[in-house]
Amino acid sequence: MDGLLEGLDPEQRAAVEAPRGPVCVLAGAGTGKTRTITHRIAYLVQRGHVAAGQVLAVTFTARAAGEMRTRLRALGVAGAQARTFHAASLRQLRYFWPRVVGGPQWDLIDRNKLRFVAQAANRVGLSTESDSLRDLASEIEWAKASLVAPDEYPVAAGRAHRDTPAPAEQVVRVYQTYEQLKNEAQLLDFDDLLLHTAAALEEHTDVAEEFRDRYRCFVVDEYQDVTPLQQRVLDAWLGTRDDLTVVGDANQTIYSFAGASPRPLLDFPRRFPHAAVVRLERDYRSTPQVVALANDVIRWARGRPAGSRLRLIGQRPDGPAPRFTEFDDESAEAAAVAGRVRALLDEGVAASEIAILYRVNAQSEVFEQALTELGIPYQVRGGERFFHRAEVRKAMVALRSAAAQQLPGELPKVVREVLTGVGLTDEPPAGGAARERWESLLALVELAEELAATVEGADLPKFVTELDMRAEAQHPPTVEGVTLASLHAAKGLEWDAVFLVGLVEGTVPILHADGDEAAIEEERRLLYVGVTRAREHLWLSWALARAAGGRRYRRRSRFLYGLIPDDHPASRTAKREPVQRRPKPLCRICGAALVDARAVKLSRCADCPSDLDEELLDRLRAWRAGRARELKVPAYVVFTDSTLVAI
Ligand code: ATP
Ligand code: MG
Repeated sequence: MDGLLEGLDPEQRAAVEAPRGPVCVLAGAGTGKTRTITHRIAYLVQRGHVAAGQVLAVTFTARAAGEMRTRLRALGVAGAQARTFHAASLRQLRYFWPRVVGGPQWDLIDRNKLRFVAQAANRVGLSTESDSLRDLASEIEWAKASLVAPDEYPVAAGRAHRDTPAPAEQVVRVYQTYEQLKNEAQLLDFDDLLLHTAAALEEHTDVAEEFRDRYRCFVVDEYQDVTPLQQRVLDAWLGTRDDLTVVGDANQTIYSFAGASPRPLLDFPRRFPHAAVVRLERDYRSTPQVVALANDVIRWARGRPAGSRLRLIGQRPDGPAPRFTEFDDESAEAAAVAGRVRALLDEGVAASEIAILYRVNAQSEVFEQALTELGIPYQVRGGERFFHRAEVRKAMVALRSAAAQQLPGELPKVVREVLTGVGLTDEPPAGGAARERWESLLALVELAEELAATVEGADLPKFVTELDMRAEAQHPPTVEGVTLASLHAAKGLEWDAVFLVGLVEGTVPILHADGDEAAIEEERRLLYVGVTRAREHLWLSWALARAAGGRRYRRRSRFLYGLIPDDHPASRTAKREPVQRRPKPLCRICGAALVDARAVKLSRCADCPSDLDEELLDRLRAWRAGRARELKVPAYVVFTDSTLVAI
């Protein structure tokens, strides 16, 4: 138990030891907020103040929830729940469903969401181009997360200065129609999970009593990004109780475009006047060089609310200065980043300790190619992708049919055998796409090992159920390799080496933030989140043109002014770094690397449709090559990530 308090500074310790009741930790990045709450949970459990099973900790990404579970396990706490709001709600809703709704459980709408939005938009006579559909879907998500009903939308959108994707009255009709179609199909979207959970507790006394009897101690990480809907769920969980610990950093609010607000964090001491309020300033994560840069990034922030003006004080020994590098084009940037990753790996830095972070997911591709060319294993963050990978889908089918055959219960061994049938080899392939597929399959075996170690009587059917749950909750297992992630997905995490790439105007800050001061400030906070992910090595880079030989019309991000030392080489144009490149066969539709001979022959991967006309392909190519800013495709096709889906 003393060990639990030993590794903490006096302020962290005060938060850990505070009696049960409201506790609020307001502090900057890397100051140990997440560490403090995990230690607090362990402390309360080990002191016997609360049973592990009565603790419910929530955070915002599946990876962060997984990390918290790992940290709790390392502290010897088993049975405390650490989940995202969505995963926690899904679980509760499944359990209470027979009582609050009855009948068969509704499925998650998942990837079909855009189809429903498309149908709704079609009925209202709005464009069904993929970009418009995405904007409409985001707007509906914003409304639901902000607890705004369809008829309240025009006023609420006006008050929030929303840049509406269509005239407000039309958005109202799309929103209404989408809800109607979705309910008729008996499907739930992610926001419904939270809405139904809150309603179940608010409207059913027996459900509320059972829930509140079971869960008594609540902890929220990253509380600066709570939405009104999440707050409503939290309030429904609590009832009239106040055993709630929240931690957050208003300077890391990066989801206000989606309805999140730091207000509940900053107002917490007013809402609970008897709360223990703790402020942390020592940064344990990053070198003083990285901390200084983080302070500089956030120093220029405008309109910071009172309570968010914290300065970080670095605690670690000196490290290398952050490096700023300018490139002629994106492929030169990607090749140089991959080359530096290679050098770090050769120096002995683990691949899992390296991350390449970008503003939008579309930026990952050129870096994926560059890493593939150097045979460096990587994983792209984003739950959806893992469960939609072809090899994972194949593996799930094989595991499901094996589960039906009731094979005898050594779980990891059976899983390995089944996966051998879909291509898992003992030794990893050298690199590239084959290596990535191998890593995904291995991650499933490792998950089976984890399940066998933690759940008594874990067998294949239980494993398949666990996988289904994870797929629904978008919670993929950890895959080894260099991490590629968006800045949003990197929140709360840390790596020894971080590459912040693509720092050009139009990307950081993103184009549509231009002219909107609040949106620009959110982009600045996003960069602050990125910078503060690095423990030691930090590279910031940008490219002046998209494609090699293209016009160099880009400018580096406005946020970099004042950060780059005057005598730094980045004030001149950095030369392309020479890297060996071999062209790889790519799918002509989605651009994925092709490995099997048939796919190479067809120039098309197995996941892409074969019946696209040449004209559409031309437009796709132009878009991929950066020659066209927008991808305009006929109404019957939606471009999601790298997949084409017919509506
Ligand atoms: P973020 O705002 O990015 O979520 P955070 O405040 O939650 O950051 P943590 O992730 O908890 O910060 O901690 C950052 C790093 O500092 C972790 O590696 C953690 O183990 C380490 N750390 C935290 N507190 C201490 C301490 N008192 N002594 C040594 N290391 C610490
Ligand atoms: Mg944290």
